[in-house]
Amino acid sequence: MAARIEETFELFIDGRPTPATRGERRTLLNPATNTPLTEVPAGSADDARHALEAAEKAFRDSGWAIDDGSRRAKALYRLARALEEQLEAFALVETLNMGKTLKESRGDIGYVVRTVEYAAGLADKVQGETIPVPGSRFDYTLREPLGVTVHIAPWNYPLLLAIRSVAPALAAGNAVVLKPATLTPLTALKFAKLAHDAGVPPGILNVVTGSGGEVGEALVTDPRCRSVAFTGSLEVGRRIAELAARRVVPTTLELGGKSPVVVLPDADLERAARGIAFGIFPNAGQMCWAGSRLLVHASVAKELVEKVVAIAKAYRLGPGADPSSEMGPLVSREQADRVLGFVDEARSAGARVAGGTKAAEEALGHGNFVRPAVVEGATPASRVVREEVFGPVLSVLPFETVDEAVRLANDTDYGLFAALWTRDLGSAHTIARQLEAGMVAVNEAPNTFPQTPFGGYKASGLGFEQGLDAVKAYTRRKNVMVQLGGGKPKRA
Ligand code: NAP
Ligand code: MG
Repeated sequence: MAARIEETFELFIDGRPTPATRGERRTLLNPATNTPLTEVPAGSADDARHALEAAEKAFRDSGWAIDDGSRRAKALYRLARALEEQLEAFALVETLNMGKTLKESRGDIGYVVRTVEYAAGLADKVQGETIPVPGSRFDYTLREPLGVTVHIAPWNYPLLLAIRSVAPALAAGNAVVLKPATLTPLTALKFAKLAHDAGVPPGILNVVTGSGGEVGEALVTDPRCRSVAFTGSLEVGRRIAELAARRVVPTTLELGGKSPVVVLPDADLERAARGIAFGIFPNAGQMCWAGSRLLVHASVAKELVEKVVAIAKAYRLGPGADPSSEMGPLVSREQADRVLGFVDEARSAGARVAGGTKAAEEALGHGNFVRPAVVEGATPASRVVREEVFGPVLSVLPFETVDEAVRLANDTDYGLFAALWTRDLGSAHTIARQLEAGMVAVNEAPNTFPQTPFGGYKASGLGFEQGLDAVKAYTRRKNVMVQLGGGKPKRA
């Protein structure tokens, strides 16, 4: 299927499609075939500055920031409806660009619709407080938007992870500059147009494509940038935090993971097997919170692993746009090679691996397809157990005692997510407290909603997205103290 997208893409700055200043364009490949899909402008530092200028002007002049929130709510609700109407078109573009199956892309775009609605509902509920203070004084706080907020997104859930922070920032009255991942900028560009048509004023949502090193750094280091929301790798997250710290700008970091799934011997193994597979194989394993380490009690390990391997083997690999496909390709050749590298290294070191090969048959051989893998017998110190693979690769580690399971679960630099399977209520709640992770699931695969906080402990990040505080995070507090005069206060 040599699909092409017949749509022209430009940067989106100040309410209109804008060609990149250098005029360079980059060809995107369809990950299912590695054939050209479309071209996008390669933006530069100048384009980044142009977008910041437009955002700053709109923040000052458009009225978006000083509205009571009801206009923002209405625009965001209209945007959610418009996106819902175009869900199929957005899903198809996401699939062709990133590789995931159409079912997965539909799920992603549906999630974006809910995220925008949730932010819309909060837009007119951002308010301060009055604070009793001594003497004849009146004290209150204001919640103000930050100004120009910068958002830098990864390629694994291109629109979803971009809008997860963009929607609350807009709801709070900020002006946004978004830089999507170089590999997957298409739906963000389409979204910006839709937002404009829904009534988001020109300059309030700008999208600049281009490399992280140039466009990303130009955005973060510019004096007009008042906050950075970054989702991506630990390495780049550290760099961004350093750059932002120099300018004392708040940063939200949503980084990687090496999430443990702990299975106690009393667990419902049938449900656990399905939940474990759902935690590692969707999106071809390219999930920050993938449950990539299965810690299972030795007494049930054989039975459970057999069930998970059976699910892994049954996956039908194919182009995401083919409705019968259950697992799409990895996003790029490089990513497929990287994932296969982890598996080959584990195999050479003596681990037993089910699956984990490149799909070589005629229909898939040119794409970046890797069969789901279950790795047994790798040592706790090996790379496949310690590092984020970001592919459909599950490592199995048996344990004997609950203490050992908790120690193994926490034996990682990351702390994004952890899952626990047991029928015992006491163990469930006790172990949930002991797991060092920003999100814990009990008898549940990784799951999240716009109303539940999403974030990591340790090297998995800084700050949280989603939930009631999501919009507040894009505001700052101002304390106002007023001297009322007239001596000692009296009761009326
Ligand atoms: P990445 O390489 O860190 O890139 C993320 C974004 O940062 C891209 O837009 C990238 O641009 C940009 N960037 C790169 N270098 C930059 C720099 N020096 N300054 C500013 N921006 C820069 O991550 P990825 O490979 O796209 O995504 C995979 C990673 O994201 C994994 O580690 C995964 O765990 C993590 N992730 C975390 C979450 C979460 O919510 N915690 C969710 C999804 C993914 P280019 O595309 O041009 O390189
Ligand atoms: Mg990268």
